Amino acid sequence: MYHKYDAVVVGAGGAGLMAALQLVGKANVAVITKLYPSRSHTGAAQGGICAALGNTEEDHWEWHMFDTVKGGDYLTDQDAAEVLARDAVERIIELEHMGLPFNRTPEGKIDQRRFGGHTRNYGEGPVRRACYAADRTGHMILQTLYQQGIKNKVTFFNEFHLMDLIINNGRCVGVTALDIKTGELHTFHSKTTIFATGGYGRCWQVTSNAHACSGDGTVTAYRAGVPLMDMEMYQFHPTGLYRIGILLSEAARGEGGILRNSEGERFCERYAPTLKDLAPRDMVSRFIYQEIREGRGVGPNKDYVLLHVDHLGKEVIDSKLPDITDFARTYLHVEPYHEGVPIQPTAHYAMGGIPTDIEGRVIIDEKGTVLPGFYAAGEVACVSVHGANRLGTNSLVDLVVFGRRAGQHAARFIKENDYEELPTTPEKRSNDLLRFVEGGAQSGRKESAATIRKEMQECMMTNVSVVRNEKQLLTAMKKLQELRERFTKVGLTDNSTKFNTEKLEVLELGSLLEMAEVTTKGALERKESRGAHYREDYTSRDDKKFLAHTLAYRSPEGSVKELRYKPVTLGRFEPKERKY
Ligand SMILES: Cc1cc2nc3c(=O)[nH]c(=O)nc-3n(C[C@H](O)[C@H](O)[C@H](O)COP(=O)(O)OP(=O)(O)OC[C@H]3O[C@@H](n4cnc5c(N)ncnc54)[C@H](O)[C@@H]3O)c2cc1C
Repeated sequence: MYHKYDAVVVGAGGAGLMAALQLVGKANVAVITKLYPSRSHTGAAQGGICAALGNTEEDHWEWHMFDTVKGGDYLTDQDAAEVLARDAVERIIELEHMGLPFNRTPEGKIDQRRFGGHTRNYGEGPVRRACYAADRTGHMILQTLYQQGIKNKVTFFNEFHLMDLIINNGRCVGVTALDIKTGELHTFHSKTTIFATGGYGRCWQVTSNAHACSGDGTVTAYRAGVPLMDMEMYQFHPTGLYRIGILLSEAARGEGGILRNSEGERFCERYAPTLKDLAPRDMVSRFIYQEIREGRGVGPNKDYVLLHVDHLGKEVIDSKLPDITDFARTYLHVEPYHEGVPIQPTAHYAMGGIPTDIEGRVIIDEKGTVLPGFYAAGEVACVSVHGANRLGTNSLVDLVVFGRRAGQHAARFIKENDYEELPTTPEKRSNDLLRFVEGGAQSGRKESAATIRKEMQECMMTNVSVVRNEKQLLTAMKKLQELRERFTKVGLTDNSTKFNTEKLEVLELGSLLEMAEVTTKGALERKESRGAHYREDYTSRDDKKFLAHTLAYRSPEGSVKELRYKPVTLGRFEPKERKY
């Protein structure tokens, strides 16, 4: 089926909805999403969204910008960090005016709390910068934006799975998508396309990410010839529920929670004397790793540490951390009022993704050449505002700041440009991909997608996680190659056209396998330690060689063809040693 829209937004999380809202009244806009909008992963975000409002203590956007740059271990593009920190303030007020029920101070202002890596006066000590709605901030943002979308009559194509990005004459002219309900392929012809499809945490065995976070948008752009940037920069959040990975927000530590090892010691103090438990995530994850490695882990296998909130009292727990403490009760049967919760680092956030400029326009090389008509925002994009390590609460603000900018630039592009024609067979690659996946149903292919996924997740968890080395990364490359070969022999057991979730899982696994390879290859070649990328065989940061973004290009066969490096945009903050 054929559709024509000025703008097609793929993804209905915070970034996609914010982008779509900029276009209503100016252009006809469709939002395509594989999940119902309110099930997007943004709804799982817990702790907060930051802005230097200064509501509870002195704060300035310059301090926020500094923290973002330093937190990102200086791989952050400083033009983007400035936009984020300045614009955050207005965006929070805008969300409030849309009806978002933030927690309040006694005088009625938006309340703010502490979060990792956010400091006053360029690193002097923690600052209260995170605005929040209990520990359900993302849920409130998603609901608020979705309600605005409904109110403004945005057209939603719910349960449509993105298949391909269509490019003609050097311009992006739309996408194809599979209607999950009918199994029919649709072509969306558009002047502008905005990807807001989120992250790919499902590459790992222990992750905070929802099942749907499989990097489909990232891989679709990559397959269409767009390079991917800084994919080796994948963040592990320090406090996932032991073995399960479900997140216990940094808000727990922001409210005063602390980590203890088997000796009962508050070990973060030893590593980060100023910020302690509120050091940035990459560091706290490494502290935990180190404690476990040196035998101070808790439990029969000494492989976790404890997050304590019991000293905060029932009232703080119930009013500010209700959901996450319930997760601990439900999944681990521990009572946070009285005891520590077993936690371990969990795969959480992709700093890397589709490279864009600060207007959300996708760029395709180290010179910043734009692919006209194509935009990306949110976790799928790499603008790069988070550099080598994202600070807590900086993603939600990224969604609304850069989602809005992408939408606004797209609105201008639509006004100034006519439709470019579609190529003659816009659906060819999608049909080929579907035929490949469906082919398994008849051809007696016997490999199981579930087994391959499990092996990939274990491989990534063991070899490409908090601490990396060459041997592990080479092992992972080899294993991923084997899994990709086995993937060509995956068979479907369900042959139906309508709501065939098995088919979708195979498509998602195809995305994940490619994302895993790009991440590993980038990590192998980045012979330094920076932010979330820590190499025990190259322990220091190498600004001479690697103060640069990795750009990974794909070969037609699907593996990484080439890595190039793009200089970081520096600015007011010179790269310095990172101490907290
Ligand atoms: C448990 C958890 C807690 C977090 N807490 C915080 C926090 O407190 N503060 C903070 O700043 N950040 C937090 N984050 C990070 C932040 O929530 C995410 O980075 C952010 O919400 C991503 O938003 P997004 O709009 O980019 O994508 P998502 O919200 O993930 O939405 C992706 C959208 O793309 C669609 N999509 C994906 N693939 C396809 C496809 N093939 N076809 C069609 N549609 C597709 C989906 O249907 C969905 O609508 C948290 C993350 C997690 C996992």
